[in-house]
Amino acid sequence: MSSEISFKKELIGNFGYPVWDNPTEAMVEAAFAHHNLKFRYVTTEVKAENLKAAFEGLKAMGYKGFNCTIPHKVAIIDHLDGLGESASIMEAVNCVVERDGKYIGENTDGKGFMESIRTVTDPAEKNVLIFGAGGAARAVSVELSLAGINHLIIVNRSTNRGEGLVELLRTKTNVDVELINWQGDYSVPADRDIVINCTSIGLSPDVIRVPVLKESLQPSMIVCDLIVNPPHTPFLQEAESQGCQILDGVGMLVNQGRIGIKYWSGVDVDPEVMRKKIEEIYS
Ligand code: NDP
Repeated sequence: MSSEISFKKELIGNFGYPVWDNPTEAMVEAAFAHHNLKFRYVTTEVKAENLKAAFEGLKAMGYKGFNCTIPHKVAIIDHLDGLGESASIMEAVNCVVERDGKYIGENTDGKGFMESIRTVTDPAEKNVLIFGAGGAARAVSVELSLAGINHLIIVNRSTNRGEGLVELLRTKTNVDVELINWQGDYSVPADRDIVINCTSIGLSPDVIRVPVLKESLQPSMIVCDLIVNPPHTPFLQEAESQGCQILDGVGMLVNQGRIGIKYWSGVDVDPEVMRKKIEEIYS
């Protein structure tokens, strides 16, 4: 009897526009190769008006799932068969998983951050401050709220977006939250345990500092930045010079990738392989 030969690979996609600066494919493929998983991850430029057609095509080709990024994180919901808990609260999806023929939307951004922060502290009962109220801030604040933080301050430049996030948190979680309108250098209150930059300030090529009064950052604070390019942002450098413990955005990126691969393949991959690839890309 001849042995069966199969070159089959399961397919995973990544839809976005713009998308060519997204490092996820390199990171995920490194994990697939390291664990010899018969999977391929394909980044595809998909404009907003082509989302429905792209998703139909992906289903026809039997994809096991996909990541979606700007501008599809909310629009994709209308096309899916269901949502996981976090995605349903956040009303945003960054990871879709095929389960028994149904495509279910998950949100792994906030979960990735939680795994990263838990390497340095347990956020339960902590006083947290978040700069920003966009998609990343939404994902991180929802997960922190579900994890039972004591109090949350959202600091955002535009009042509208800030109010939207605070309303979502008050409606869908039990967190005690207040909104501060951001003007000039912000002085971080001394009672904060965790301070997180969830804005796009500091992202390459405009590697600028977060407008914060440096002296208000205390050594007792854990200061985090979601930016991965570059990982050691001016904000983290200022926090480090004040004696704070710092946490870069690479851990969040790696962990959301790891969680996605677990959803798609069932395999818990080694995060170090992915971290190494990301560090190599941004070195
Ligand atoms: P959004 O565009 O949804 O939100 C951007 C946020 O940044 C808004 O709150 C915006 O404020 C604020 N902002 C931007 N520029 C300024 C400025 N000059 N001054 C004050 N506030 C400013 O982006 P996302 O939330 O999706 O992503 C934010 C960043 O998080 C990304 O740049 C990305 O690098 C990072 N990220 C990292 C991940 C990781 O895995 N490490 C995952 C996801 C994101 P306003 O409302 O006033 O416009």
